[in-house]
Amino acid sequence: MKTKVYIETFGCQMNVADTERAATGLRIAGYDLTSAAELADVVLFNTCSVRERAERKVFRRVNEVRARARKSKPIIGVMGCVAQLEGEAIFDNAAGVNMVVGTRATDRIASLIDRVRIGETQVSDLGERATGESWEVSPVERHSPHVAFVPIIEGCNKFCSFCIVPYSRGREKSRPASEIVAEVKRLRDLGYKEVHLIGQNVNSYRPRSEAGLEGIQGATAFCRLLRAVAETGMPRIKFTTSFPRDFHPDIVAALEEFPNLCDWVHLPVQSGSDEILKAMRRGHNTTDYLRRVDSIRSSRRRLALTSDIIVGFPGETDANFQDTVKLIEKCHFDALYIFKYSQRHGTPAAKLPDDVNEAQKKQRFLELEARHRQLQKGIHESYIGRQVSVLVEGESTRSARDMTGHSSCHKVINFHGGAANPGDLVNVLITEAKLNSLYGEYVN
Ligand code: SF4
Repeated sequence: MKTKVYIETFGCQMNVADTERAATGLRIAGYDLTSAAELADVVLFNTCSVRERAERKVFRRVNEVRARARKSKPIIGVMGCVAQLEGEAIFDNAAGVNMVVGTRATDRIASLIDRVRIGETQVSDLGERATGESWEVSPVERHSPHVAFVPIIEGCNKFCSFCIVPYSRGREKSRPASEIVAEVKRLRDLGYKEVHLIGQNVNSYRPRSEAGLEGIQGATAFCRLLRAVAETGMPRIKFTTSFPRDFHPDIVAALEEFPNLCDWVHLPVQSGSDEILKAMRRGHNTTDYLRRVDSIRSSRRRLALTSDIIVGFPGETDANFQDTVKLIEKCHFDALYIFKYSQRHGTPAAKLPDDVNEAQKKQRFLELEARHRQLQKGIHESYIGRQVSVLVEGESTRSARDMTGHSSCHKVINFHGGAANPGDLVNVLITEAKLNSLYGEYVN
């Protein structure tokens, strides 16, 4: 019988994409994948280190699996960002872990498992990706039969003072455009309706060679890649995350040229105070950011804009926070992901005094959220009476007679089903604005 591997994934889309690649490689190497940890001979945790809480959760899960599997004793591995950061110290901190697999060792997991199976008790690989490594993902390992994640760049060179990613994911490395375009064409031929070009900062994309971009115009390599991917005819293309400093107005021009590039830009600002942005080492100030927002808002297409904000960064005064409130009033974000600052060991900001107390952080979080909700309500209501294109994902969890999906502007749309099936691209007439979604009627 084949050895069964279970992979549990924490964190962002990049980790989901790494799990898909790891599963593809393991199946090629002769392993079987299972969705039940208790049936597995090998249990892998693909980890996220962005917040310390997420890291602690992984170690809790390792203990749970060990406790439940006293007799069967599966091989246990920690992969991803926590593995890269903590390295072999994990063997001391989490009894029972046999494998530590860094963020660039995804393709070597099968050989690490083989080493444990023939008797080594602790193996680790924190090395770089091998040159010419395959990014191929088998369709059976993809998280959805309709939407696929396509990594275009990994790592980050920005070193924002609060963030651990440059240390866990390493420096920026762009995939050749020829590989990306070929992958999108394959996905299109397999019937996928939507791809997400993903990376910590997609618009910092800088491939080493021209391959795949020949004859394609654009102000930056990313603008050219967007056009090259759009020319494949994939029905819908989204991209995330964009870094403000590298957001060129030609990205908006590309969105206007190609209807299959979706109506959505995620552009994290993190704070509305120039003083705090400087302490965060973001490399942009509010004037730079608002200039990018203007280019997005003045597009001929109606583009949805979403963002991330951290409240309670060290040294953030009430006045700094009020600058953030004013900024969201100017930007009218379609969605806003608000986080209370928490110190991340190993980052430059962790050396600053965490001087905004928990009660203040909570109060700022709630105030910002309430103001954003008011603004968002107006945005959602403005969709009533409009038709939006929706990729159907399945039945709504709220009502069996309704279907659910995402619009091109990346909003959750629930609608009265009609003849729609998962994977269909349909038009929906919006009739109601809800708190986190829109509701409408299927339009034949
Ligand atoms: S741009 Fe800043 S916040 Fe984003 S991954 Fe890089 S260091 Fe982290």
